[in-house]
Amino acid sequence: MEEPILKIRDLCYAYGNGTPALDGVNVDIYEAEKIAVIGSNGAGKSTFFLNANGVLTPDHGEISYRGTIINKKNLKELRKNIGIVFQDADNQIIASTVMAEVGFGPMNLKLPKEEVLKRVDEALTYMNILDYKNRPPHYLSGGEKKRVSIADIIAMKSEIIIFDEPTAGLDPINTQMLEEVLEKLGTEGKTMLISTHDVDFVYRWAERAIVFCQGRIIADGTPLGIFQNKEVLTQANLKRPTLMEVYDLLVEKRLLKDTKAYPKSTSEFKEMLMEI
Ligand code: ADP
Repeated sequence: MEEPILKIRDLCYAYGNGTPALDGVNVDIYEAEKIAVIGSNGAGKSTFFLNANGVLTPDHGEISYRGTIINKKNLKELRKNIGIVFQDADNQIIASTVMAEVGFGPMNLKLPKEEVLKRVDEALTYMNILDYKNRPPHYLSGGEKKRVSIADIIAMKSEIIIFDEPTAGLDPINTQMLEEVLEKLGTEGKTMLISTHDVDFVYRWAERAIVFCQGRIIADGTPLGIFQNKEVLTQANLKRPTLMEVYDLLVEKRLLKDTKAYPKSTSEFKEMLMEI
């Protein structure tokens, strides 16, 4: 069987005040997976991400990256290969120009200057912000800052990209832009973990959903399976995707035959309705 890129065993973490934020998390992440990480505020999603990329050090448990157990000495390997796009771009962006910002990570990898410049150009082109190269990132709009913070991670060529609530604070056009970027990264086979409260997005985008509740993973499976599991939905305070709700309502009203073939998109739904 295929080896996971990231293997996490019995991960526990408590903040300074003693709050146990993670309480025995076990999970394997495989190459090219598109994973949604869901659960209420305070469930432990961000703490999980910060432990997974080595910003925080677990109190207990083990993280292996490509078969190697992570310790203080090889922590750099984890940080290089697992990039986080933070929820608030202002917390991530540090440099005074977009170019310096996106070049910062690759420079820290001690790559030759030409390679750094090449990566910056590639990442800015990928995110469609090459024209902003010399602009100070702090004066960009929310959507533009988001692009810069994603370019930061793209320039690192990280194997796994984590997005912590990426659509928070974005307007509909920038949310659409973000979804297009995620789609593109997905077709290129990038491994992604995204935390979000948007269950409709989870349903249409993710292949796998991991549900956190009080520092533990209470469910891990296909979004369809999870959104059909009433117990999990109640425990994690999750709503069902609108398309599933509407489908069930039409079945209940006998307007649609129940084939349990929930539509994934509005266009699929339209097709289904054309047949009746
Ligand atoms: P989520 O990302 O799912 O909203 P978090 O990982 O942010 O959850 O939080 C998990 C728990 O850890 C919560 O009880 C939260 O209050 C606590 N917590 C998060 N960050 C800190 C921090 N910097 N200091 C102390 N407690 C924190």
